[in-house]
Amino acid sequence: MTRIRYHVSAVQVPNGRPNIAKLVSAASTTLDLARTENQPFLLFNQQMEEEFAWASRLETLAPKALARQEFEVWYQPKYDLATHALVGAEALVRWQSPELGLLPPGRFIEVFERNGFAVRLDYYMLGHVARFLEDRMRRGLPVVPVSVNQSALHISEGGYLRKMKETAEAYGLPAGLLDLEVTETAFVDFKTKEARESSRHIIDSLKSYGYATSMDDFCTGYSSIAMLQNLPMDSMKIDRSILLAAEHDDRALRILQNVIQLGASLDMKILCEGIETEAQEKLLKDLGCTYGQGYLYAKPMKQEEFEAFMEEHLK
Ligand code: C2E
Ligand code: MG
Ligand code: MG
Repeated sequence: MTRIRYHVSAVQVPNGRPNIAKLVSAASTTLDLARTENQPFLLFNQQMEEEFAWASRLETLAPKALARQEFEVWYQPKYDLATHALVGAEALVRWQSPELGLLPPGRFIEVFERNGFAVRLDYYMLGHVARFLEDRMRRGLPVVPVSVNQSALHISEGGYLRKMKETAEAYGLPAGLLDLEVTETAFVDFKTKEARESSRHIIDSLKSYGYATSMDDFCTGYSSIAMLQNLPMDSMKIDRSILLAAEHDDRALRILQNVIQLGASLDMKILCEGIETEAQEKLLKDLGCTYGQGYLYAKPMKQEEFEAFMEEHLK
């Protein structure tokens, strides 16, 4: 028995004198999309046309933007829910583009995940955060652990561990000051022994270089339990979606409660993302969650603002 997988794309030919090269290019990009989304058939439409044009604009501008340092690191504080002490921050990328304006990652990160540019962007972010922390420490100023997001692409990238080791050695920051956030879905393949061992090797190595590790967007992927079983990571970041659901749905509430307990029983630090109201904070505290991040406390802010913020909160 042989299974054959096929993908077909189609483009409607407009009336008049169509631009054949443009149609072929649209068909070919639609076919790529069909492959990525594993769809047997995809018809090119107006929305795709806009998305392709946007993606191609971003791809053209990105390398120059990196060289011109148009990508900015913004920091969102993390809090201890009981004491309201500042305990850390997450670094989030923003693109201040002269051509396109200020863009949040939602406007570009997916395109960069698809074309591989996210790998370069992540090293850029890590380098900036490491320099920021190193500089403050050199000046005798207080610091908190900062986490940076790691694209799933690193898992299959050759030389990832070597580069991460070099970065750790170059800055010599105290262990745990740099934290790497990885999504559950990045490590989705736990089916084979090799895949499990290779993921475990990556996490163990990163820890041995002094990085802390966090599971990001917990409760949104489909390998959570396998990931918990296989990878001893330091923190669990619970996604905002389950918090929102738990507010009015009893099943979600019980899942949230047990996820918190499960993480805590594995000696993980438990943080919930996207806290916007005091009622949500109370709910999380009642369920035993220790840390939080969200608009209730502070929105992501520019580096200068975050420095002033630390000044005020770390006295
Ligand atoms: P994430 O890592 O889960 O980051 C949390 C997101 O939730 C951030 O969105 C943050 O601004 C938002 N957020 C924080 N508090 C609240 C809240 O109270 N309510 C709501 N509704 N949202 C809140 P942002 O900055 O737009 O980032 C989106 C995603 O883009 C991130 O999700 C992360 O997956 C990705 N990302 C950001 N920076 C980088 C980066 O440097 N590299 C990579 N590979 N991905 C990044
Ligand atoms: Mg994150
Ligand atoms: Mg998250």
